[in-house]
Amino acid sequence: MWPRGAFGIIAISAEGANLRKFDLIIVGASFAGLACARTAALRGLSVCVVDRKRDVGEGVRTTGILVKEAAEETDFPAALTRLIRGVRLYAPNGKYADHLVPGYYFLATDTPNLLRWLAAEAVRAGAELALGTPFKSAVTHDDCIELPNLGLSAKLLIGADGATSGVARYFGLDRNQRFLIGVEVELGSEPGLDGRFLHCFLDSVLAPGYIGWAVPGVGITQVGLAARHGTKPDLMAFLHMYRTRLGLRERPILARRRGLIPAGATLRNTHCGRVMLIGDAAGHVSPLTGGGIAQTLRLGRRTAQLAADWFHAGAEHPGLALAREAPKFTGKLWLRRALDLAPPNWVWNLAFGTPPFRAFTQRIYFHKRGAGGDTRSGKGDDARQSQPDHIQT
Ligand SMILES: Cc1cc2nc3c(=O)[nH]c(=O)nc-3n(C[C@H](O)[C@H](O)[C@H](O)COP(=O)(O)OP(=O)(O)OC[C@H]3O[C@@H](n4cnc5c(N)ncnc54)[C@H](O)[C@@H]3O)c2cc1C
Repeated sequence: MWPRGAFGIIAISAEGANLRKFDLIIVGASFAGLACARTAALRGLSVCVVDRKRDVGEGVRTTGILVKEAAEETDFPAALTRLIRGVRLYAPNGKYADHLVPGYYFLATDTPNLLRWLAAEAVRAGAELALGTPFKSAVTHDDCIELPNLGLSAKLLIGADGATSGVARYFGLDRNQRFLIGVEVELGSEPGLDGRFLHCFLDSVLAPGYIGWAVPGVGITQVGLAARHGTKPDLMAFLHMYRTRLGLRERPILARRRGLIPAGATLRNTHCGRVMLIGDAAGHVSPLTGGGIAQTLRLGRRTAQLAADWFHAGAEHPGLALAREAPKFTGKLWLRRALDLAPPNWVWNLAFGTPPFRAFTQRIYFHKRGAGGDTRSGKGDDARQSQPDHIQT
């Protein structure tokens, strides 16, 4: 639908040639970098986004689910998303409960094309993209920062290069130390999977510290799990459990996704001189749920506004201002530590369905809005396609 890396790619000059000057160079053409680039360009800044990938939609590492807040902030093309009404949470013993909150929803996404669309939007706003261009080194001066091997210079360099940021490493900024590790496969559409729900599986043996999931996505089904760092999530064992539990037949694997999810909350030291970090590189990810897209889109955009204010109105350094505005995730970090202990499955089974557990689940998936939600329970095979009258809107 959107061209693969065909738009707005600038020619990178060889070392020693005249440097092309920009207000911003952003390393990383994903959610954080592209949101930042688009707003910066709209605010009149000259922007170049560099990414080592040749196509922003290749090698996607995320499930790509958007929460309602993110969906409402950006007008994503409807063809690239699929509405999901609520969450069906399964206990290890097969019992399940449906969690719905009136008016709340999630969007599954065609993530590769969503990223291509975000890139096209940034280019349309005036940003330039340099794909197939890895960041390796930089030279800092008082008034600018140079990337000589790319033939570029800028007033501000933004590292939006993900969980294991090379920009953070190069400039000695804080780096994520705690992670969840996530693995996922793409299967064809599963007619037997209830498409109204994000299916989440509690299992401390298969997914210690996190959960497994099945997402009825855009033309595909995404099945995966994550676990605390240091453990190896057994995707095949999880797939087997998922199919057996829901009575689904085996399907060929179309593609795989995997990646590290920062789980140590927002980092402290995320800027110095003319360099700053955003997105996963800065730890802008909920350490509890691992959800980062909403924050990275929001704070990416906000960074562009703060940078424009810094350049044009003499406001404070955008790194300082962002550090104040970014969430600290203190409570979620404590809950992450508790979940990392991976309560045995019998504890999940015992707690499941109790009012405090239901309230806790609603709160995690729907935040404050969870209080007005609706929960319904079931067991085993009922978890396959059930009647639409379960939906509460
Ligand atoms: C398995 C998994 C599932 C997830 N599911 C969800 C979910 O459903 N919903 C949700 O909200 N969050 C989810 N997350 C988290 C979410 O994906 C991230 O928070 C989000 O992608 C962060 O965006 P970002 O732009 O900061 O970094 P990234 O998306 O990691 O992008 C970094 C970019 O930088 C580029 N790059 C890296 N190094 C260099 C270099 N040296 N030079 C040039 N370019 C470079 C990369 O190619 C990449 O394009 C998931 C994460 C994982 C791993």
